[in-house]
Amino acid sequence: MHLSKLFIPITKSLPSEAKIKSHQLMLRTGMIKQSSAGIYSWLPLGFKVMKKIEQIVREEQNLIGAQEMLMPTIQSSEIWKESGRYDDYGEEMLRIKDRQGREMLYGPTNEELVTDIFRSSIKSYKSLPQLLYHIQWKFRDEIRPRFGVMRCKEFYMKDAYSFDLSDEDAKKSYNKMFYSYLKTFERLGLKAIPMAADTGPIGGDLSHEFVILAETGESQIYADKEIFEIDINKYSYKDESLKKMREDFSNIYAATDEKFNEDKFNKIVKKENQVKTKGIEVGHIFYFGDKYSKPMNCLIDDKSGKKISVKMGSYGIGVSRLVGATIEANYNNDVMKWPKSISPFEVVIIPSLSKNNKENFEKSEKIYKELKKQNIDVLLDDVDENMSNKFKKHDLIGVPYQIIIGSKSGNDKFEFKELNEKSEVLSLDQIKTKLKT
Ligand code: ATP
Ligand code: MG
Repeated sequence: MHLSKLFIPITKSLPSEAKIKSHQLMLRTGMIKQSSAGIYSWLPLGFKVMKKIEQIVREEQNLIGAQEMLMPTIQSSEIWKESGRYDDYGEEMLRIKDRQGREMLYGPTNEELVTDIFRSSIKSYKSLPQLLYHIQWKFRDEIRPRFGVMRCKEFYMKDAYSFDLSDEDAKKSYNKMFYSYLKTFERLGLKAIPMAADTGPIGGDLSHEFVILAETGESQIYADKEIFEIDINKYSYKDESLKKMREDFSNIYAATDEKFNEDKFNKIVKKENQVKTKGIEVGHIFYFGDKYSKPMNCLIDDKSGKKISVKMGSYGIGVSRLVGATIEANYNNDVMKWPKSISPFEVVIIPSLSKNNKENFEKSEKIYKELKKQNIDVLLDDVDENMSNKFKKHDLIGVPYQIIIGSKSGNDKFEFKELNEKSEVLSLDQIKTKLKT
């Protein structure tokens, strides 16, 4: 892509409500545009990053055998009346009437809908376990939408649902998802800590929030610093290993404010290990047994032919919130550096075009074509602007690698720079190798 053709409305003036750095950066680099309070359009640059995050989330879900589907955004109120949540959910639910006067709603989550789908087709233990997920827009009429994409009314979420025969099997599904989340966040370049959490309006008895540390986070967290040191790569997807992982995590104190107990914290965590800080919730998982299957009559035959309520869990990841959260974790001292896995482009070519430098321009076009041929997603800054402005702009756009065509580049050697690092002069082959590893 040539930068001059990219729809990237960079703005210098910021609205006063943009208080945190991710919101500011997303507006400044034209990743999003507010449409109304808590509702945003995703412009090409922001959309590209979100799609990359979505794809990583999808791959990790598929890896544990979760099956992707797509449920609608608009739901009928009937199933919510069956579960009892139509009244309980309160004002956060956006309620709509169709032309026949039927009560509908814009889904804030999908436990009811997926239970309805499941009960209409699965009748026997033989079809269990099942793990279904979709990645779909949600709407919650948040009382105070703020911080850009962090707390919106309309947001993009991956939500998965597990169906098992027994509590014991259901816990296995829970552990699998728990580990899958740790893997997902690792691929996004984020260190997410699982914390014991309240179950809130979803209900149930077992729940973890996955939180990344950030000053601007809305969750208050209390943890033993040892939890940050657990190396997740020592575990595998085998049931035994996952059980061990869960034990290791639950043996170290980590909780959000709802579950925080000061006496317990002081008693079991050494003073020098106590971490009290803020974090951003990027995922949340629940095990709630038959909370929905029972009132909704979602029954299956067990091995003895007896009808029992299926045991369910639900598992969410805030895909759109993750765009902001990744920025909070990586934007420092006016430089944004995207993790390689989700950067909007893999590399940017920045030629010095002063005095209409034709030679540099042709050189950069040539490199551009070369890299394209190798399937490298490359951005070429063909805008006629001085180098210092260009560098400032690319510090914000955040593509982690730059090929600079200026005084340090020769005929077949080019200045190659990783953001926040020193540059080096390399051949195109060496650059390709660097980009591929
Ligand atoms: P929160 O505690 O932040 O209000 P929640 O517990 O209500 O979130 P869940 O129902 O667990 O949220 O949703 C799963 C994930 O969806 C959350 O972990 C978060 O990443 C994301 N999410 C929830 N609400 C919003 C929102 N208003 N805007 C953007 N993302 C959200
Ligand atoms: Mg939550």
